[in-house]
Amino acid sequence: MALPITAQDEDAFFIKKIYNATLQNGKCYERLTHLSEEIGGRLAGSVEAQTAVEYTHDLMVDMEMDSVWYQACEVPVWKRGKEEEVIIHWRKPKPNKSKILNTPNRKEQHKTLNALSLGNTIGTGPSGVEGDIIEVYDLDTLDKMGAALLKDKIVFFNRPMDPSQISTFSAYGGAVDQRVYGASRAAKYGAKAVLVRSMTLAQDDNPHTGVSVYDEAYPKIPALAISTNDANQLSNLLKDQPVNVSIKNYSKNLPPATSYNVIGEIKGEEFPNEIILVGGHLDSWDVGGGAHDDGAGCVHSLDVIEILQLLDYKPKRTIRCVMFMNEENGLGGGKAYANESNAKGEYHLAAIESDSGGFTPRGFTCTAEDEVFKDFFINFTSFGDLFSPYSLYLKQGGSGADINPLKSQKGLLIGFKPDSQRYFDYHHTAVDRIDAVNERELKMGAAAITSLVYLIDQHGLR
Ligand SMILES: [Zn+2]
Repeated sequence: MALPITAQDEDAFFIKKIYNATLQNGKCYERLTHLSEEIGGRLAGSVEAQTAVEYTHDLMVDMEMDSVWYQACEVPVWKRGKEEEVIIHWRKPKPNKSKILNTPNRKEQHKTLNALSLGNTIGTGPSGVEGDIIEVYDLDTLDKMGAALLKDKIVFFNRPMDPSQISTFSAYGGAVDQRVYGASRAAKYGAKAVLVRSMTLAQDDNPHTGVSVYDEAYPKIPALAISTNDANQLSNLLKDQPVNVSIKNYSKNLPPATSYNVIGEIKGEEFPNEIILVGGHLDSWDVGGGAHDDGAGCVHSLDVIEILQLLDYKPKRTIRCVMFMNEENGLGGGKAYANESNAKGEYHLAAIESDSGGFTPRGFTCTAEDEVFKDFFINFTSFGDLFSPYSLYLKQGGSGADINPLKSQKGLLIGFKPDSQRYFDYHHTAVDRIDAVNERELKMGAAAITSLVYLIDQHGLR
C-alpha cells in the first residue's frame, strides 16, 4: 500500500501536530513521577500495586474515555521481607613471616555484599545458610561438576552480560538463564544457595533483582543477586583462597491473590471491532520506583489517548489502553487479557507494547503469525518515510511479553524500541526512579507511539 502524496502530506502534518502537543502538553512525566515516587515499587499483590491500579483507573475515568474497566487476574504474592545480609569471609595470608613458617596463622577478612533476593525465592530466615562458594560460568558447567563438587556449596554464577552485543536486550537474553533457572539447577546437585552476578553491563554497587523460577523436582534453595563490583571482587578472591559466605534473607511466598489489569478505550467510528491496543505493565519490582520498567510504558500509553483527544481526533478503529498487571513474575495480566479477549471473539488488528524504558525513541519492531506477517509487514513499513524525520526505524523483531499471548488473533504485534544502552543500568534496581528518566526523551516516546497508532488507525494494515 503506497500512500498517495496528498495523504502523505496530511499524515506528515498530523504527526507533527502530535509531536507539538506531546512536547508542549504531554503529562507522561508528571504521571510517571507520581507512579514511581508517590506510589513507588509496585510488585503484583502489594498495596502499592493496588494503589497504582486505582490511580490509573481514575486517570482514565477523568480522561472521559468511552469505557474504563478493571479486569481481574490471579497473581503470585512474594514478599522480600527484612533486608538481606550476605557476608563473605576469607583468610588472607599474612605477608612474609607466616608464609615462610608455613603456619595456619592467617588473618580473617570479611565483607558485606550488596545483595537482593531474587523474585519468588525462599528465605533462609534468621538462622541463615552458610557454606563455601564455588564459582561457575554457566548452567551446563553444573552438570559436568556434579554433586562431587557442588554438594553443600553456595554456587556463584558469574557469567557477565556480553558487552559486545549492540542491543543490551540481546546481552541480557544471553545471560539471564543463570538468574531464572540457576537455583534449581544447582539444587539438583545438593547446593545450599546461589548467588548470581547482577544482570547489567554497568560496573557498580547496585544489585538487580528479577524473577527466578523453581523446578519442583528439586529442593528449593535461596537465590540472591549481588552487584557487579562485588561479583568481580569475589571472583578475584576465589582465585587465591577459599571464600565462605553466610546468607540471611527473609523472603516469603504467600498464597496467590486477585489483582487487576486496568483498561480504557475510545470506540472507533468506522471499524469499532478492529482494536488497536497500546499498553505497558503497571507492576514493577519492589525496590526502586519502576520508572523505566515499566512506569514509562504505562504513561506513554495514557498519553496516546490523551494526545489524540487533545487534537480532537475521532478514531476509525477502537483504541484501547491497557495497564497490564504481573508482567514481572508470572504474566498473570497478559494471560488473563488474551483469554478474555479470545473468549469474546475480539480482534486486535495491532497491539503495541512499550516495555523497554523511557529513553530516546529509535523505532518499532513487529511480529505476527507467519501466514499473515508478510502482508502486514509491507503495510507497516510503508509508514517508514513518515517516520524518517524523527529518525525512527520500522523493522521485524520482538513485541512485548504482555501482548504476545494475543498472537493467535493474527494481528500485528509491535514493540516500541527506545535506545537500549542505559536500560540495564537501572532495570530491577533501587535506582530505577524518576531521576533516571529524561522528561523530553520520555515525551518523544509518547509522541512516536501516538503517531504509529494514528497511522494504523487511518490506513489499517491490510
Ligand atoms: Zn518490564
